[in-house]
Amino acid sequence: MGLRLFNTLTRQKEDFVSIEPGKIRMYTCGPTVYDFAHIGNFRAYVFADLLKRYLRYKGYEVKQVMNLTDIDDKTIRGSQQEKISLSEYTARYKDAFFQDIKALNIERADVYPEATAHIVDMVNLVKKLLEKSHAYQLGGSSYFKISTFPSYGKLSKMKMEDLKAGARISKDEYEKEEIGDFALWKAWDEKDGEVFWETEVGKGRPGWHIECSAMSMKYLGKHFDIHTGGVDLIFPHHENEIAQSEGATGEKFVNYWLHNEHLLVEGRKMAKSFGNYFTLRDILSKGYNPIAIRYLLLATHYRQQLNFTFEGLDGAKNALQRLHDFIDRLKGIRSQKSHPEVAEILKEAQSGFEESLDDDLNTSSALGKIFDLVKEINRFIDEGDFSSQDAEKTLALMQRFDSVLGILKREELKLDEKITELIQKRNQARKEKKWEEADKVRKEIESLGIILEDTPEGTKWKKRI
Ligand code: AMP
Ligand code: ZN
Repeated sequence: MGLRLFNTLTRQKEDFVSIEPGKIRMYTCGPTVYDFAHIGNFRAYVFADLLKRYLRYKGYEVKQVMNLTDIDDKTIRGSQQEKISLSEYTARYKDAFFQDIKALNIERADVYPEATAHIVDMVNLVKKLLEKSHAYQLGGSSYFKISTFPSYGKLSKMKMEDLKAGARISKDEYEKEEIGDFALWKAWDEKDGEVFWETEVGKGRPGWHIECSAMSMKYLGKHFDIHTGGVDLIFPHHENEIAQSEGATGEKFVNYWLHNEHLLVEGRKMAKSFGNYFTLRDILSKGYNPIAIRYLLLATHYRQQLNFTFEGLDGAKNALQRLHDFIDRLKGIRSQKSHPEVAEILKEAQSGFEESLDDDLNTSSALGKIFDLVKEINRFIDEGDFSSQDAEKTLALMQRFDSVLGILKREELKLDEKITELIQKRNQARKEKKWEEADKVRKEIESLGIILEDTPEGTKWKKRI
């Protein structure tokens, strides 16, 4: 059985077939860089990372594009409040985003197009929609006329009958009930201050939806394989992307639409606007390893809601520790007494892992297969029936699993000997009041990625992220 994925377009699990054999083009809606992303957002990016890694595991070459929304109502407001330019303001959060994804061991996309660097592409798309009468201009803005696109609603299953006649929506974010013509290009208004472009469709700025249509098609072509995002993007964002892209090209835009469910806090979606969120930084400052967060986000199937709690995070940390202990134990095996069943058990574990992920990326089942393997092998080791060659084969399989899961990376957990020695050396120098020497050693430690903090309880350290 091959890979099956749940397609929001059909609300069914479908066999996955790529447009070009062996190659996949996928697009992931990226962050709006107006603030630090919260771990709910990272559920969306960890999911896209899992999908990409598993497609690679299956032998596909994957090209992934993720946009950075660096212009919208929120970024403009933020830069005005701080009295700095839009690009200065968004640069800070772009950097933070890349630091955060690195900490979460999310592999980088191939391209991260920024909206402000693609205004011409967006304007060209708006022009095309105007030419084809899918759009109209009013008061210097351009709107997509949804009545000209009869299949509007096919992704979200929204009905055209619910359309509010004559409604025009200019905001970047709107509610499910508000179905109407949406802004492609927004005429300049005082609130936008310095932020505008003089273009063939007028003075102003792009709407949010047009950015993803223009940039995905620029880097992936008119018709590509997979588009991902959280379920809140199904309507209006992705519905509008389909209307814009298919309206302009007359071709099918995307074959498979995949959406992750939300991360919740006490039963409610984690969101900036509800104030119930944690950024990655909030959690790391409590001393958690970022990979424990990755584990937590991965361990529940992506189409199930996941309630965030610190107990849950502790559980993820413990599960991760069990895997690390297992790896350490395998590395310490010296026996030559091989177990006859090992080859068979490894084979079964691998097929169990693959069958689970083939079934719409069922990660909780895949992790279950790994823990079954850990249990069985631990039993063999306890009984003294396990050789170093068996251990090597098991380690190789664990590494193979980890090419998909990305959870066994672990420099965060321990200080190596060299750093411990340097810390002692520095403490000694401080005791002897050799400040220059102590400073020199501190710099050496910092160059190894460790930050020291001298507190009344003694010197503390943390890993730089
Ligand atoms: P935004 O920056 O709001 O456009 O969101 C970026 C991504 O995070 C989108 O794919 C959203 O669907 C997703 N997202 C936002 N909140 C959550 C949440 N609480 N749980 C899971 N995904 C979310
Ligand atoms: Zn998007």
